[in-house]
Amino acid sequence: MADGPYDAIVVGAGLVGAAAALALGRAGRRVALVDRRRPAEARGRLGFDVRTVALTPAGLEFLGVDVPDARIRRMRVWEEEGTGHIEFDSAALGSDALAHVVEVGATSAALWRAAEALDGVDVRCGAVSGLSEGAAAMQVSVGDAALFGRLVIAADGAESEVRRLAGVELLDRGDFDAALATVVRTGRAHGDAALQRFGRHGPLAFLPLPDAHCSAVIWSQDRTATERLCALDDGAFLAALDAASEGALGPLDAVDRRHAFPLAQRLVRDFNPRPRLLFVGDAAHTVHPLAGQGVNLGIEDAARLLDVAEGAADLGRPNLWRGFARRRRARAEAMVALMTALRSAYGYGGPVGRWLRNVGVRGLDTTPAAKRWLIREAMGQGVLARTL
Ligand SMILES: Cc1cc2nc3c(=O)[nH]c(=O)nc-3n(C[C@H](O)[C@H](O)[C@H](O)COP(=O)(O)OP(=O)(O)OC[C@H]3O[C@@H](n4cnc5c(N)ncnc54)[C@H](O)[C@@H]3O)c2cc1C
Repeated sequence: MADGPYDAIVVGAGLVGAAAALALGRAGRRVALVDRRRPAEARGRLGFDVRTVALTPAGLEFLGVDVPDARIRRMRVWEEEGTGHIEFDSAALGSDALAHVVEVGATSAALWRAAEALDGVDVRCGAVSGLSEGAAAMQVSVGDAALFGRLVIAADGAESEVRRLAGVELLDRGDFDAALATVVRTGRAHGDAALQRFGRHGPLAFLPLPDAHCSAVIWSQDRTATERLCALDDGAFLAALDAASEGALGPLDAVDRRHAFPLAQRLVRDFNPRPRLLFVGDAAHTVHPLAGQGVNLGIEDAARLLDVAEGAADLGRPNLWRGFARRRRARAEAMVALMTALRSAYGYGGPVGRWLRNVGVRGLDTTPAAKRWLIREAMGQGVLARTL
């Protein structure tokens, strides 16, 4: 420990942790970035990682690495039992894209390489297995090594080991469905459009990929239905997907492997349970992916963290993070509540519910100011995103 403790030790080099470490390193901080494994690019049968995420323009810019992306210029949302639909167009906002679809493996690998190339950041492979608190620093055990940091930033995902080691309370905001993620090749070109269709049993989304005839699919349903869909042979799965999407992308030609993810909404009671410990990303909150906001919320955590860190000599100084913790918890609670409301609104059957949704959706589609407000919030440029 010749140079003294790190300014921060970031545990977890997923998109959120790596983004936080890079940003702190670029701001001149001495940082350790630790992950149990080096992230690798993954390529499926159709040439893409089956794990993709839609990043807001601000989120992609914050990462500050060059990765292949597909722009979402338009978005169409409709429902299985309805006549109303809503359309968003980036041109109406004077923006080049509503969001950017990136592959998780390739983006994580690019962030890791950028961190390796940065003087202030030490990247280390190894599982974090211990955590203890001293007066001037936290000690983190990584295999046989001990690292010391003034602040530990836990970004080790939904099953956070740091959260377990620190005995931090997790609030349960409800189990939802499971999500199936894959990539399909489509007969019709996606035209840079994302499609989302709300079915009684959950939402189905197509996100455009850099190949005009390939889209990522995220299909949420209950766990039994998801398991059944995963077990179908490719032909039967494509037929089910074609029916559920009402043929929106023409005949579906091919599908990659299917992955199922359990979905639960949870958040830590306190994002800063000790002065030298902070939670961000999925380690702090998990939200339903129906609006593609999970990682964006985490990248927002990292961006706000940087604002607070600016000018602080000791990043673990008592009370430094209390305001951050309150605002980020409020932001995560608001997102969780919105996802619950959306999921429940579309899960409610019956003619009255259907009528209300159709009237509401048509009204929204023909009210440009309301549409602009909604999409700016989803793009991370709205009032909630800027003030919390
Ligand atoms: C089907 C699906 C679709 C989604 N689509 C979108 C979308 O379109 N847009 C969006 O914004 N979000 C989306 N999300 C959510 C998004 O994937 C997550 O919010 C995001 O990946 C979380 O990133 P993270 O960096 O916080 O955690 P993770 O990506 O989980 O990274 C955690 C890292 O910590 C490491 N780690 C864990 N334990 C240890 C340990 N003990 N020691 C060292 N390292 C450790 C892991 O190896 C991993 O690299 C989706 C989620 C699902 C399930």
